[in-house]
Amino acid sequence: MERLPVTEGKTTFFAPVQDEGAAFPPGSAPIFYNRKMEANRDGTVLFLAAVRPSDYLDAMGATGVRGLRVAHETGIAVTINDIDPAAAAEIRANAGQIEGAIEVTCSDANALMSTRRFDAVDLDPFGTPAPFVDASCRSAKRFLFVTATDTAPLCGAHLKAGMRRYFARPMNTEYHGEVGLRILLGFVAREMIKYDRGIEPLFCFAHEHFVRLHLRTRPRVKNADQALDRIGYVMQCTGCFYREERAGLLSESGVCPCCGTALRPIGPLWLGAVNDPETLLAMEALLPEMALGTASYLGRLLPVLRDELPTSTFYDYHRIAKALRASPPAIDIVLERLRADGYLATRTHYEGTGIRTDAPLATIEAAISGP
Ligand code: SAM
Repeated sequence: MERLPVTEGKTTFFAPVQDEGAAFPPGSAPIFYNRKMEANRDGTVLFLAAVRPSDYLDAMGATGVRGLRVAHETGIAVTINDIDPAAAAEIRANAGQIEGAIEVTCSDANALMSTRRFDAVDLDPFGTPAPFVDASCRSAKRFLFVTATDTAPLCGAHLKAGMRRYFARPMNTEYHGEVGLRILLGFVAREMIKYDRGIEPLFCFAHEHFVRLHLRTRPRVKNADQALDRIGYVMQCTGCFYREERAGLLSESGVCPCCGTALRPIGPLWLGAVNDPETLLAMEALLPEMALGTASYLGRLLPVLRDELPTSTFYDYHRIAKALRASPPAIDIVLERLRADGYLATRTHYEGTGIRTDAPLATIEAAISGP
């Protein structure tokens, strides 16, 4: 197996040479390395530099790049694990070249997480993290990070697969990326609260073909109950753009007050904020000194996340304009009109044409079609 040096952030390591797209399915590559996930790893390195856990488990290491970078670029003690002995050998070889407290293990992640606890636990599997979330909730003392790349099941394109994995019903709406993030977050919350602990989302985003969660775990029943209160549904009208939030267990569906069509439930999912402005500010302050390859992307992402209203959906105002047969104005004009009408309105990181607002649909339509 040919190996070549690769540099990400301030860390140089060896990765097997892979032709772009040659290994399919992804797990068929000898040892997996995907440069396109650099933004995902950069985000985590920056987050860890800000919150500084006492130790960190990279439960699915592959080349070990994630854990190696955490050790080298933040000085946090890491354990890097992979079930594949060839991957574990590769991680050991890479760890030998890098300064830092690095332990390498070769176990099934569920077995490891069932027997040891770590201050921060990171799941970065192929596709769905669902089979690993229960053990990760027991292993994570203060922080839990989860990647999902199975966006089709999460977002509603593969409905049955999404329901099997997350026991939730997605829907392929114009805000499907957000549905995916909130269904994953709702699933992790339900796995955690059964242990009488809560979660607090600190830094969560969707990008290209992945969803990434950075969560704080919170001890005690009262925090579990608070997290439980955040689980609910988005009730989406299938006849128009109307939707509403419904906290708690679903007792009835209801009809759309705009057009009279039956509302369809999406969920259960997480309702409310998915980011913590203070944590994001701390990350923004550290960004200039971190030498991250995707610094310019993160520099644009973090302020947008910080501003996002904690609504559970956004509107694609170009789609609404099309339905109204109106020519869409610039997004800032629509946002200003909504604010002038006394409502809150912000952009969203999911879509350049996405608007988050607490305004009713009729007001949004008026703001798009203009005076
Ligand atoms: N974290 C890596 C990175 O940032 O480049 C990529 C990890 S790759 C997507 C998933 C890895 O999980 C593979 O190396 C695979 O061998 C490993 N894996 C699969 N099942 C596992 C299990 N049950 N326990 C531990 N590792 C597992």
